[in-house]
Amino acid sequence: MADAIRKRELARGERLLPGVFRLRLPLPWPGVPHGNAWAVASGDGFVLFDTGIHAPGSLADLERALEMCGLALRDVRLLVCTHAHSDHYGQAATIIERSGAELWMHPNYEHMSHGAADPDAALVRRLEIARQSGVPEEPLRRYAAERARNRESGIAAIVEPDHPLLAGVIVETDLGPWTVYETPGHAPSHVCLFQPEHRLLISGDHLLGRVFPFFDYGYSPDPVGEFVRSLDVIEALDARLCLPGHGRTFTDVHAHIEANRALVGEHLSDTLAVLGGGEPLTAFEIMPRVHGANLSPMTAQWLLTETLSMLLHLEVAGRAVRIAGEPERWTAAG
Ligand SMILES: [Zn+2]
Ligand SMILES: [Zn+2]
Repeated sequence: MADAIRKRELARGERLLPGVFRLRLPLPWPGVPHGNAWAVASGDGFVLFDTGIHAPGSLADLERALEMCGLALRDVRLLVCTHAHSDHYGQAATIIERSGAELWMHPNYEHMSHGAADPDAALVRRLEIARQSGVPEEPLRRYAAERARNRESGIAAIVEPDHPLLAGVIVETDLGPWTVYETPGHAPSHVCLFQPEHRLLISGDHLLGRVFPFFDYGYSPDPVGEFVRSLDVIEALDARLCLPGHGRTFTDVHAHIEANRALVGEHLSDTLAVLGGGEPLTAFEIMPRVHGANLSPMTAQWLLTETLSMLLHLEVAGRAVRIAGEPERWTAAG
């Protein structure tokens, strides 16, 4: 009911710099009301960075935001996705169909195609991870029932990239070339793009104005370690202005990188402190001791993934030990 009557956010488009436009696109997610796509002039059209989610009305949202900038969908000359999450890639199929543009994206997008191609198998896998982490049966049943009601992936169709966005690939625009930097962690397919003359960074979800770490758990050996190394990668660029995947642009890029490092360090040391308590604990038991007990079902799901990613990082670093069983428990090493 609350959802049905919730006032829908409006799409907006605005000029950030000559030839650079922010397209602010609504998202159907509580707590994350919108995301950004970026349009950068290129020849007789523009390069579109990210797509917004595929949902009822989402194409009209994108067209409205473009129109506010004097742009049209048919003039997309190249579509670049910072990563394969639904809010950055969801409308890719529709956009390339309407515009005839190529799609460029990093090849490690199995974290998306796995779930989008077979939602049932992806749900079974998520439930297995949750059960293994000590989540009780009752919330698991509720979660499964909720997913069965709402099976939308937010992705119009899986389209394979025409060109792999690997480190060093150049995207040409009227503003100058943008260089690709691989920045896995938030998602294995994540890249950032840097324009050196203007020192602009299109950061996707790797670096946001609000520090809000999320790790796509289950598709790489150590997402937290990758994320921290990816912070080093973009720090070396010395960007002047960050164009993030959500929220406003910001200039204090270095401070945001530091804040991310500090938060990850804090969660790691809090997790270690909990593990040092003696008795082996499940991830589900560790989560509220690190993050507090006041968790909504939505944040609990996100924080369980965060907790598991932290535990995995500590395990890789030799500081935590996993005790096999149903459920799995964790303790400090040594
Ligand atoms: Zn994302
Ligand atoms: Zn996002």
